[in-house]
Amino acid sequence: MKKLLIVSHCILNTASKVAMDEKELAEEYEVKGRLMRLVIEQNVQLLQLPCPEFIMYGSKRWGHVKNQFMHPHFRNECRKMLEPILLQVEEYLTYPEEFEIVGIVSVEGSPSCGHRLTCVGEWGGELAGDDTELLETRDTCRMAEEPGVLMQILEEELQRRTMDVSIMSMEKAIEVLSQVKYL
Ligand code: SF4
Repeated sequence: MKKLLIVSHCILNTASKVAMDEKELAEEYEVKGRLMRLVIEQNVQLLQLPCPEFIMYGSKRWGHVKNQFMHPHFRNECRKMLEPILLQVEEYLTYPEEFEIVGIVSVEGSPSCGHRLTCVGEWGGELAGDDTELLETRDTCRMAEEPGVLMQILEEELQRRTMDVSIMSMEKAIEVLSQVKYL
């Protein structure tokens, strides 16, 4: 029996992330390291989701909030790029005696790949305004207990196709892999 974990793109490829001071990601990288060690130790196979932000906005993008991505084109592109993954999931689920999908791993806080937590805010408009206005805009950013755009669409598609696969944080995936010996 092969065990699979479907992971958000930047869990395997941090080059796709918004450029920022890497020190701010130390905690996330530490959790990711623990997850990857378990994956290797337990011989779990990995399937990587696409990174919608890198594909659509590239490496020079600003950090965004969910509100900016909740437009029809972004949602439609997310749906299209998830289609090949969903077809693969369907195939794995067809043979439960051969494959087990342990879950889909989110990046909590991301406007795209968060599942229980995503950043929202009233962002948008001209960056060349005065500093006070920009800071006021920046300060509207907050964490909301809802999925990011990609995860929201993934969840909708899983439900629509009656595919039972859990979406979980990296911490939860560590907990799940630690409980069961998958060798
Ligand atoms: S969009 Fe998703 S995969 Fe891409 S950098 Fe953000 S959290 Fe990672």
